[in-house]
Amino acid sequence: MLVERIWAANDLRNFQYLIACSQTGEALAVDPLDGRQCLETARRHGFTITQILNTHEHRDHTAGNAELVAATGAKVLAHAGAARTIGGVDRGLARGDVIKVGRTVELEALDTPGHTLTHLCLLAHGDAPALFCGDTLFNAGAGNCHNGGDPELLYETFVNQLARLPDATRVFPGHEYMARNLAFTLDREPGNSDAAKALAEARALKPEDARITTLGEEKRVNAFLRLQNPEVVARLRERFPEIGEKPDARTVFVKLRELRNSW
Ligand SMILES: [Zn+2]
Ligand SMILES: [Zn+2]
Repeated sequence: MLVERIWAANDLRNFQYLIACSQTGEALAVDPLDGRQCLETARRHGFTITQILNTHEHRDHTAGNAELVAATGAKVLAHAGAARTIGGVDRGLARGDVIKVGRTVELEALDTPGHTLTHLCLLAHGDAPALFCGDTLFNAGAGNCHNGGDPELLYETFVNQLARLPDATRVFPGHEYMARNLAFTLDREPGNSDAAKALAEARALKPEDARITTLGEEKRVNAFLRLQNPEVVARLRERFPEIGEKPDARTVFVKLRELRNSW
């Protein structure tokens, strides 16, 4: 499986991806925002874009569909529940559906509500597992729930699905927010030396060169995956005394998300 990450160089700091078969060069474009950029990247690598997948219905993840379809005739795939909002969807996906790219790539659709109610992530199994997670999981952070989302559902997606994937899973999010999110983790957990080190590294890199993290690393530096950490809980209690001495993981997650909204 070949992966090309495409930095959109916009204010929202979007990442788009091409996932290609190393044998046939057929490619799936994930969350195309700028169709021209995706076509140019495909051309440079000798890929043929045959499919498009939108992780969810927000415009910054779908705006490039029309240009790519016009240029390549690619089929559009999205969560079945988001198909009407997106428009032009050829294949509506549900949990467990498999997306094949060329001869060598198989991706599993995960139904991952929270950022919106109809959001999906793509999981590549095998010895180099990879997760294309749109606006659900970010490097050191979690998606917001401002535009049609639900923090309780996002919590369930994190705990019941994402946190259970192998630690070696590489994480390919829909936006580049690494440094800002690591700073939030350090605000919540000042003693996290892994996050401090990662923040220094992230600040030294241009966004288009941001490191690809793994889920194992995320568990060390992402506050939204550290819901039982004593320092995270103690600092949260200072801010929200009403959560009591032993808040459950769901409460910690929802309060962290609430704090991050205005942080
Ligand atoms: Zn979004
Ligand atoms: Zn987005």
